[in-house]
Amino acid sequence: MKILFVTPECAPFVKTGGLGDVAAALPKALRALGHEVITLMPAYGGMAPGGELKRVIAVHRTARWPDAQLLEVVQPSGEHFVFLSCPYAFGDVKSPYGPSGAGAPAHAAVPFGLLSHVAALIGTQRSPIGWRADIVHANDWPCGLAPLYLRSERDASAGTAVARSVMTIHNLAFQGVFPIEAIDLLDVVEPYRGVEGVEFWGQLSMLKAGLQQADAITTVSPTYAKEIQQPALGFGLDGVLRARSQQLHGLLNGIDTDVWNPRTDGLIAERYGADNLSLKASNRAALRKRTGLPDSRQPLLGLIGRLTEQKGIDLVIAGAPRLLAKGAQLVVLGKGDARFEEALAQLAAAHPRQVHVTLGFDESLAHQIEAGADSFLMPSRFEPCGLNQMYSQAYGTPPVVTATGGLADTVSDVTRFPQQGTGFVMPRADQPAFDQAMDRLLKLWADGKAWESLQRRGMQRDFGWKNAAQQYADLYTELLATSDPRSENTRPAA
Ligand code: ADP
Repeated sequence: MKILFVTPECAPFVKTGGLGDVAAALPKALRALGHEVITLMPAYGGMAPGGELKRVIAVHRTARWPDAQLLEVVQPSGEHFVFLSCPYAFGDVKSPYGPSGAGAPAHAAVPFGLLSHVAALIGTQRSPIGWRADIVHANDWPCGLAPLYLRSERDASAGTAVARSVMTIHNLAFQGVFPIEAIDLLDVVEPYRGVEGVEFWGQLSMLKAGLQQADAITTVSPTYAKEIQQPALGFGLDGVLRARSQQLHGLLNGIDTDVWNPRTDGLIAERYGADNLSLKASNRAALRKRTGLPDSRQPLLGLIGRLTEQKGIDLVIAGAPRLLAKGAQLVVLGKGDARFEEALAQLAAAHPRQVHVTLGFDESLAHQIEAGADSFLMPSRFEPCGLNQMYSQAYGTPPVVTATGGLADTVSDVTRFPQQGTGFVMPRADQPAFDQAMDRLLKLWADGKAWESLQRRGMQRDFGWKNAAQQYADLYTELLATSDPRSENTRPAA
């Protein structure tokens, strides 16, 4: 199959979170299954795409869209990229996502409208790169209009081949909402201008457009697929998702074991595996050294991530005094809400021998925390899939997680399942549950043998992408085998 994977971010070029890692790994895994995959993403200003530039293709200005260029690049590893270059749209690298939401101006919708427009074009006979995708796989709200544009193309093309579309939700909390006036800038035609298309409570939502009009919707874990159909985690789109539940699939992310593997990781002090787990101690010593923490017999706890309420950072901050009183140390790497950054910085200043905080984004420190910490904290309020809890298990760093989304699907609780458990699962994201999980952790830590078994069980789990990639391939195959996979209940009246 010919698959166009369209994404706003992809490691190592641009990464703000889990999607960056998925966008690097899933196309590679699909290619390994024998499919042709091209990744389409913006060429943000100042970004160095690397690899061999094969050609530059002009995408000419139309009444709606600015002039743009497509840079076709093949990486030495065989990865095939098309970078969308448009200084008007993507000149600013500071935030790949730019402004959206209530205060954003209508024209702020144009950059990702353009990305979706180009993605959809590559799914038609008019593909500017002379290669027509069978499947356009759109990721998160910045690509949400691509399924809608493809739908319009299919309506207009009377039988000529147009790609099938898949819309993947990596986080339903981010929806790409803009003033409804953007509708004309974005060339959204009838019958997709209303509630069956982009309209969302008087505004325009790019994610909603994709959810309404994609041939299939996926999200990144089976539990999250169920949770987002309920009001509590549906972020106002649970009704849309319930209406499309027949087309909604929860496919668990994998991890890229070329990048996140303690046996081969070039960013850590000493490589190790389940058979020479004692070498993990060198990584712990190196992490303490790098972060200026003294040696200790108590566990070193790690946390990496966006410092937001979603991630339960407040629970860690409020629970820290209890933990520190018991001698534990804490290393935090992240950036996010100012109130959490400030509280963490204060905690580190008050406890320099027990707490280290790096505010920022640092790929090598992230690897060193996974390798050097004894346990990893991830008490999220919701978590579509989450990657760090899987990295942690692979690195022998048992995680503390909440029973939500992908965390529930990938970590089993060692107290409930002493022979199978790979971490500590909190039933809810609240303070008593967090404190209780930490008590259980410190207790098990004191039993060296039991702790080591816990580590080994996590390291033996297979979180590779192969299985997930096969599930995506099966879904694409199913879509291509169906003449018009659109379900009747999402077909707007013309
Ligand atoms: P989300 O996508 O919700 O942010 P995930 O757990 O799915 O969370 O993925 C986060 C990814 O981003 C992981 O690879 C994690 O290591 C990485 N990451 C998050 N914050 C930082 C940071 N401050 N420095 C380095 N890597 C980070």
